[in-house]
Amino acid sequence: MKKNPFAAGNIRAALAAAPGGDRAELRRRLDRVRWPINRKPKVCEITVNYRCNLRCLFCYNPADFHASDRPEADIRTIARALRAGREGGAWIASLIGGEPTLRTDLPEIARLARRLGYSLVKVCTNSVNFSDPSLLPRLADAGVNMLDVSLHGPSAAVHDRLVGVKGAFDRVIGTVRAAQAAGIEVGLAQVVNRLNYRRFPEFFGLVFGKLGISYYNIIYGHYAGLMAGNARLLRTRVSETIPYVRRGLSLIADSGLPAFARMVVNFPPCLMPEYFNVMADWELPDGGEAQEEVMLPDGTVRRLQDMKAEGSAKARGCRGCLLYDRCKGVEKSYLDLYGGAEFRAIRELPRQALAAAWENSGGKGRNG
Ligand code: SF4
Repeated sequence: MKKNPFAAGNIRAALAAAPGGDRAELRRRLDRVRWPINRKPKVCEITVNYRCNLRCLFCYNPADFHASDRPEADIRTIARALRAGREGGAWIASLIGGEPTLRTDLPEIARLARRLGYSLVKVCTNSVNFSDPSLLPRLADAGVNMLDVSLHGPSAAVHDRLVGVKGAFDRVIGTVRAAQAAGIEVGLAQVVNRLNYRRFPEFFGLVFGKLGISYYNIIYGHYAGLMAGNARLLRTRVSETIPYVRRGLSLIADSGLPAFARMVVNFPPCLMPEYFNVMADWELPDGGEAQEEVMLPDGTVRRLQDMKAEGSAKARGCRGCLLYDRCKGVEKSYLDLYGGAEFRAIRELPRQALAAAWENSGGKGRNG
């Protein structure tokens, strides 16, 4: 059986076996973001704005969210949310939008997060504003040690069409290279939809093989906002995408190199149970565990897992599933579109998934 590259033991083994130079480089990169191997990320997400300089077809915000006259939280409100996140145990500050780089005080916000003790301060960006060469050094100087860049296809033809701007793909690649040269770790996010899912193995070949990126968010699109309006063009059943996602993940497995983060987001585990330990956003809040928090632009703070659970429901086929009590089910907007016939109760978990879940949980039998 193929080794699961995401199990902690296998990541350690891959690090130990990596050729000398690469091993040192991997360790340097892990140290840089202080991301302990396979530790479950604990994130405080700060939505610094809704404004954006793109109008991606798949955005889950409605078009009017982008209006520049919407109020944005001031730095004091942001400081309160960041402080509360630290008190709740968060160690990653994720600065999201809209497009966070449109805020001129973004370096100040990043510096504040650092001062509060966040070891990882990341900015999620579409890259457009990095055409200003002074932006990257200013963010790095303020303590940003990771960029989460949106890249939605393996070529300019796919990416530029989805984000609606010619040249956007080249800008992303340029930003990735510049960040890597500056010693900033890079992660990528892709929203899976009908225009890109068949290109997924190629995408992984580019970002994992050529760009050497080890952090991904492969997100099955949320049918809300602009994405809901463009559903005729973008919609695809989640089960149709699975063979392609699997082929992409197997590129990592075959490489023998480690993957550091949970990366498959908004996919129900029953469709790919062998990878459920690298899935994010599928679990119900665990009563005993402090939840991650998200601050919205008006300063309101919500519990992330609660928000996601509220928008989801179980399908009929979920009855009797081994993960029934842990899984939030499927997004209601998806069930409205397609019904729930694809989702069938897991009666048995593949042995490698169970082993990985056990290993990740520190022996407590949970996938944490
Ligand atoms: S509870 Fe339902 S959606 Fe979740 S893994 Fe089981 S069958 Fe799939």
